[in-house]
Amino acid sequence: MLTRLLAAAALLPLVIPAQGLFTPGVKPFIRIDAPVIALEHVRVIDGTGAAPVEDQTIVIDHGRIQAVGRAGDVSIPDGATRLDLANHTVMPGLVGMHEHLFYPSFSGVPLYIEQGFSFPRLYLASGVTTARTAGTLEAYTDLNIQKMIDSGRMPGPKMHITAGYLEGKGSFAPQMPELTGPDDARSFVDYWASQGAESFKAYMHITKPELQAAIAAAHAHGLKLTGHLCSIGFREAAGMGIDNLEHGIIVDTEFIANKTPDVCPADPYASLAKLDANSPDEQQTIRELVQHKVAVTSTLAVFEDAPPLQQRFVDSLSPDALRFYLTGRDRLSDAARNMSKMFVQKEVEFERAFVKAGGLLAAGCDPTGNGSALAGFGDQRNIELLVEGGFTPVEAIQIATSNGAKLLGLDDQIGSIAAGKQADLVVIDGNPVSHIADIEKVELVFKDGAGYDPAKLLDSVRGQVGFH
Ligand SMILES: [Zn+2]
Repeated sequence: MLTRLLAAAALLPLVIPAQGLFTPGVKPFIRIDAPVIALEHVRVIDGTGAAPVEDQTIVIDHGRIQAVGRAGDVSIPDGATRLDLANHTVMPGLVGMHEHLFYPSFSGVPLYIEQGFSFPRLYLASGVTTARTAGTLEAYTDLNIQKMIDSGRMPGPKMHITAGYLEGKGSFAPQMPELTGPDDARSFVDYWASQGAESFKAYMHITKPELQAAIAAAHAHGLKLTGHLCSIGFREAAGMGIDNLEHGIIVDTEFIANKTPDVCPADPYASLAKLDANSPDEQQTIRELVQHKVAVTSTLAVFEDAPPLQQRFVDSLSPDALRFYLTGRDRLSDAARNMSKMFVQKEVEFERAFVKAGGLLAAGCDPTGNGSALAGFGDQRNIELLVEGGFTPVEAIQIATSNGAKLLGLDDQIGSIAAGKQADLVVIDGNPVSHIADIEKVELVFKDGAGYDPAKLLDSVRGQVGFH
């Protein structure tokens, strides 16, 4: 009896506030809350790839962009809340296309801990106003977090949830389900579509019959399927009708000699060193991806094992997570560091060639790997790495905003700055065109016209990442 009572008590929330959990809602994090707002004298990078324009005024009316144009030409409605933002840049909210609400546990069995509290806040604080998750280990949690954000019970980006992983046998991750064949793949897709999942993610050990069944089922629901593949090559997957490929060419195993069909090779990166964006082989893959309209998601930040260690990163991690992270980072061998650099370099070369050939490239942070790419911060780092790799700042911002919106099929609503679009905007204290790292100087984040204070959001997750 006692044990039964204790077991029951263990399931009760420790604190039950009078008005339910998460009573603070979003109000404490909103600095600008007005029906009509004018952002005056700003530099606008509109997300479409167009050159930046100086001294603009953006009028926000009830969550939508009502007007954008030269300061002085745009009429500002009476009673508008006016912000003089000279020397600031406004760009669209980031559309993160490879986001997760989980973070590695660092040691023992490879488990990933749901960060349903801290990650939505980190994404929003970093300017990510729309987040497509790219796989989950707690699908119900992700779907419920999405509802909590949408109903204003907690701050976070607008979420588009991808179901759990469509994984075959042999996964390294014990939290993932293992498909038993094409019928299983079909019922998995049908079930999670019925629960509100908006897309699907095939993983490293899926077989061709399972992938084919999953793609057909997803498309029958009008939904998209992406993949971090290994058992199946990019050209094969493109031919099968996949919509999107995560991470890019460096996870493509089709260049590995004598690869067994449907099997993820023991060393999936065996051909990394000889990858060459100008080689006929890689060019052929690029042509086939473009021809089949397969988008690619850039996740450069997750491949960078030892980025500059930032104070905001240190401040966000829980003491244990920080200790585990730093220990692992200190132990990185020179070989591992060099490999990490090669990953980023080979991948960004592919991404430039892919975009040049007309491919749709989006971006996301993938907060996994060795823990370096944190939610939100990793999205910003990704943009910096795209620029270091040869994209212009305007191109990199387009990849991280309107390209993601296009891939989501929401580019008429989000991803760029124009009259009629949702007022999802990032106000930067600086100029990312001349100094891309300014992208980290987020002063305000507008989501549907509400101006969130990034400092308050970051403060609220101090020492929490890794814990929840
Ligand atoms: Zn991922």
